[in-house]
Amino acid sequence: MDTSVSKTKAGIAHRLKTGAEFKASLDDGRQIWVGGKKIEKVTDEPALAAGVDLLASMFDDQFTEEYADATTYLEPTTNEIVSRSWQVPRSQADLVDRRKMIEYTSLKTGGTFGRPPDLAPAIAVGLAAYLPTFKKKKSLIDGCSPDFAENIEHYIAYGRDNNLTASESLAGPQTDRSDPKAAEGSLLRVKSVEAGGIRISGAKTVGSIAAQANEIFFTNLGGIQSTPADACVWGSVPINTPGIKMISREMVSEPGADPFDHPISHLGEEADQFIVFDNVFVPTDRIFNLGDPSAMSWYGPVCVFAHWHVLTRLAVKAELFVGAGQMVLEVLGTDKIPAVQMMLGELIEYAQTLRAFIVAAEALAKPTEADVMAPDVGMLTAGRLYSIQHYPRIIHTLQELCGQGLVMRFGKAAFENPDIGHYLKDLLPGHGVSAMQKELLMNFIWDMTSGALAGRVALFENVNSSPAPRLRARLYEEVKRDGFVAQVKKLAGMDW
Ligand SMILES: Cc1cc2nc3c(=O)[nH]c(=O)nc-3n(C[C@H](O)[C@H](O)[C@H](O)COP(=O)(O)OP(=O)(O)OC[C@H]3O[C@@H](n4cnc5c(N)ncnc54)[C@H](O)[C@@H]3O)c2cc1C
Repeated sequence: MDTSVSKTKAGIAHRLKTGAEFKASLDDGRQIWVGGKKIEKVTDEPALAAGVDLLASMFDDQFTEEYADATTYLEPTTNEIVSRSWQVPRSQADLVDRRKMIEYTSLKTGGTFGRPPDLAPAIAVGLAAYLPTFKKKKSLIDGCSPDFAENIEHYIAYGRDNNLTASESLAGPQTDRSDPKAAEGSLLRVKSVEAGGIRISGAKTVGSIAAQANEIFFTNLGGIQSTPADACVWGSVPINTPGIKMISREMVSEPGADPFDHPISHLGEEADQFIVFDNVFVPTDRIFNLGDPSAMSWYGPVCVFAHWHVLTRLAVKAELFVGAGQMVLEVLGTDKIPAVQMMLGELIEYAQTLRAFIVAAEALAKPTEADVMAPDVGMLTAGRLYSIQHYPRIIHTLQELCGQGLVMRFGKAAFENPDIGHYLKDLLPGHGVSAMQKELLMNFIWDMTSGALAGRVALFENVNSSPAPRLRARLYEEVKRDGFVAQVKKLAGMDW
């Protein structure tokens, strides 16, 4: 499925897919069950199809003047225009440029897709940031000895040259957490070694966007030195590889709804999948660790770029909350009430704080051992913790600003009905806006904060890249305090 080299209008070679080419690439025999029934093609399920259309529009945007800079860049090693998703940042300026893509995909989906096309490649970039470490690691599984560092480099080039989308699934299925054997039951494990690769079985959860992507990037979540050697595996395979079965959660968006009624949720969703691996073949050149438990504890450093993505998306969403909140004050005429201004102030504080964490993480970025510029993990973890702790209150405050308008929404058909529409139009206008204009704003806020899609997104935000207790533990493990202790001792005259 090599994306052949074409030329842009300016005559520069590119490796970009169109939306139509992306959609065609998903019709590949992948195995998906929705509501207990197997579907032939991912686009046979309306909510998945609407999500695919939204993703396809991102591919088409690569060719437009408006979005070319945010979504593509000139790769210096090949002198070709490629997707920013696979850009390996080498400097702080590269980080700022790469962030344009995160902001673009976040705005495009209203922040409702936590795993847009530029998220999973950020994990490949994280592996590339530690190439010397992975170069030194050796396979501990007899009969299969990949060069992990070479594979990581080839994979990034492959993803970049083919404008690939990937999903990532690192966490394991939820079982009895008090029993280590329960978790071991679903770990991805090497079942056999054969010519040209290995076969693995097990299961992964949750693979957001897996059904709508080309590839799946997998491992067993690390940090556990006791992971059995045959379960110490990082890799990536096409999502249509025989033996991969995706079982979809129920859909929560409103495909086919009028965009007036559901300005965001008519765009579909990324549907989280439970993913079974039943004797799946993984070629040797797609393996990034095999059998080495020490490589598994690299989850934190490797995922730093993905976590920077998560925080940036939340900042973009926070700014949408501020924009929507400001409009509510204007259309309800509540903007002169000091108590209401204070509520908007709370939304502004949240958005500004998230931005500050991102700016700080980038300002404190340092080159890794492979000269990849990595944002500061302490700032990112603190920012992510702040973002998820305050999210429910921020949603509540925005809902509060809306009053009855958030509940009393009637839909376009009611406004257009000759018997009742005129009542709604006459009796519900806002300050300087019609009743329908006011309702469109409320419908947007409903989709972002209150409907089924927003409910899934809020739950997702809370745990998708570690829940708050785990983030606090990471701060304890990763943020150095020696300097602070020394200051206390000096100030207090403690000489021990
Ligand atoms: C909608 C959604 C989408 C997701 N998408 C992805 C994805 O694309 N890729 C991916 O890899 N993962 C994804 N995740 C999974 C996510 O990584 C996990 O939910 C997360 O790691 C928490 O694990 P768990 O849900 O199994 O919690 P459990 O292990 O079942 O624990 C339940 C709760 O107990 C507490 N807890 C448990 N253990 C600890 C501990 N050691 N320290 C502190 N507190 C603890 C936490 O509060 C936790 O939420 C997604 C999750 C959701 C809900």
